[in-house]
Amino acid sequence: MALPSPVDDRFFVARFSRGPGAGSLDVRVRLTERGVAIEGSDADAPLIWPYGALAIAEPLSAQSIDALLSTSDQPGAALFVPDKTFARALIAPAPQLTIAARRLRSARPWFWAVGLAGAAVVAVWLSGFSPARTIAQMLPDTARAMIGDQMVASMTKGRATCVAPAGLAALDRLTAKLSAATGTGQRFKVVVVDWDVMNAFATPGERIVLTRGLVEEARTGDEVAGVLAHEMGHGIALHPETGIVRGIGLAAGAELVLGGAGGLANIGLLLTQMSYSREAEREADQYALSILRGAQISAEGLLRFFDRVAEMEETEGGSGMGVLRSHPQTEERRAVVAATERYAATPALEAADWVALQSICTVKESAAPAPSQQPLPRPSQPLPGETDT
Ligand SMILES: [Zn+2]
Repeated sequence: MALPSPVDDRFFVARFSRGPGAGSLDVRVRLTERGVAIEGSDADAPLIWPYGALAIAEPLSAQSIDALLSTSDQPGAALFVPDKTFARALIAPAPQLTIAARRLRSARPWFWAVGLAGAAVVAVWLSGFSPARTIAQMLPDTARAMIGDQMVASMTKGRATCVAPAGLAALDRLTAKLSAATGTGQRFKVVVVDWDVMNAFATPGERIVLTRGLVEEARTGDEVAGVLAHEMGHGIALHPETGIVRGIGLAAGAELVLGGAGGLANIGLLLTQMSYSREAEREADQYALSILRGAQISAEGLLRFFDRVAEMEETEGGSGMGVLRSHPQTEERRAVVAATERYAATPALEAADWVALQSICTVKESAAPAPSQQPLPRPSQPLPGETDT
């Protein structure tokens, strides 16, 4: 298909994502009379993002060096153009994206300001546009995997991992069953760490860490499945990635998208300080319920486990609960689980597998050396692990 006539002959290299979980890919963009044309997005024809429907993370100015765009026409999708020529050339056809336009709006009488702010909130809500999350979803899978490895390594530093063969096999079976039920094609990797606190956390790149304390404290395989499904929910929703981009800043996050290694230095520390919003926790729970249903595992385990965590927090003051601390109130979660439709369920693990999983720390492997700090691949090179599903 022929493109609308260009208003500018140049094309620019950019990174495009269709939405959360969709991965990102290199595309070419061009300014045309109808809007920003995106070529190479796997769509049959070049995509056209009309200028009037564009939103931007940072308003444009003569000093702009890049542009992170979304459009109300294609909610969830994002386009990152790391080119100052493009950013500055965009000002003419899309003046509403400039700092000056924003200033003008704020200079209007308060009722206009309130009205526009309301409209902006609705627009942001409709497009689901969050700059940190948008950058997070554009991270190449190779970068996510590398960050995940580094986080797991720095969080488990000095601690052994639990590797009793029968326990590993049981955990693999459970993880595969739950991964298959995500419906996203993601394959999670779970590691149990010899650590007596009760904790579970997801890192970028579909990694999940469980502690020995958690595995020992759980009373059924269904409870472990519930925790895993919840952490997978965080992973699917890119909460760890988004938290990291917020932590290191949008600019450093954008650099990660482009393959720079900047901002990776204290990444393990970031995870320890990260706590998710209630909203994120609810989202993870929604994913968990759908995963458990898909795997035909009862959601009661999820409920019962977090119930006990809440009880322990009351009696023990919550020490050592770490990431679990920020999870939603049990009452709220109970209501959500109770409201879901019943379905036929089978135990998450067979009796022998459950016994094996609980003994997974009878064989330990001392901490592996941290992965080497190689710079991330530049996007101009092929990204072998990158998928685009
Ligand atoms: Zn959570």
